[in-house]
Amino acid sequence: MDIGFIGLGNMGAPMAKNLAAAGHTVTGFDVTHVTVDGVKMAATAAEAAQNRDAVITMLPNGSILTSVYAEIVPAGKPGAAYIDCSTVDVDSARAAAEKAAAAGFLPVDAPVSGGMGGAVAGTLTFMAGGSPKAYALAEPLFEIMGQKSVLCGPSGSGQAVKICNNMILAISMIGVCESFNLAEKLGLDPQAMFDVVSTSSGFCWSINNYCPVPGVGPESPADNGYKPGFAAELMLKDLGLSQDAAKSVAANTPLGRHATELYEKFNAEGGKGQDFSAIIRWLRDQ
Ligand code: NAD
Repeated sequence: MDIGFIGLGNMGAPMAKNLAAAGHTVTGFDVTHVTVDGVKMAATAAEAAQNRDAVITMLPNGSILTSVYAEIVPAGKPGAAYIDCSTVDVDSARAAAEKAAAAGFLPVDAPVSGGMGGAVAGTLTFMAGGSPKAYALAEPLFEIMGQKSVLCGPSGSGQAVKICNNMILAISMIGVCESFNLAEKLGLDPQAMFDVVSTSSGFCWSINNYCPVPGVGPESPADNGYKPGFAAELMLKDLGLSQDAAKSVAANTPLGRHATELYEKFNAEGGKGQDFSAIIRWLRDQ
């Protein structure tokens, strides 16, 4: 396929590289000067989107997505897949999809989980929203950039799943951190705590796969000075999106709201630039 790729940051660059390495023709654009192996750079977003079979965006937020779509929708080829892999608010995702569909494109919102490691290794999970026809066009590309993709429903559904998943993750991570801090104060050995909880009813991804305590469980950012991984500010962004979405549909999310407040404080008090699991140190200091 002839693919345009806009937004070649931490995630976009390795994703574009993997598509090129798989034999697709990839033309990229980013507002900052970047080079990516196998990717030809365009001078504008419109040029990157012109006459492509698929246009992928991997951008920081919904307002940037909206402004980029204003440029790339008039430039595209009818019938092209317009795949947005950024994490953005559900309303911006739906508006971008409507704009693209009205111009004759096949839109898919497809945020990812798996982080930079997954982007480099081509093992991301894609949560997709769009029509089955649009998804069918995008799926072979998801198979190159990831190991799993799920069509979750119409446009916006991918973003909806992503923020629900990350709200669970934030709440469970805080719970695991609180429990380890309590265990420590009760004089428990963190290894014993891990050995029991990881095979008991408290088990969850935050403890079993991403334990926030150094030297315990599989290797995680805690073993690497809490270097992200998944940065605390990105978790706060996703929690903010979950709370905006909850307000817009009057869903009651008291723990999601409280997790957002805690990540706000953690980010304001030194958490920025650290992995989101480093909230264990901030909680310990309270
Ligand atoms: P990033 O900031 O490294 O990359 C974003 C890129 O977009 C930058 O290179 C920036 O220069 C470019 N950009 C900004 N405005 C632009 C414009 N108008 N036109 C073209 N390019 C523009 O961010 P990232 O870590 O690659 O994340 C990208 C998206 O993926 C975000 O929505 C993020 O929430 C999501 N995400 C990130 C991770 C992660 O672990 N980093 C995990 C899952 C999802």
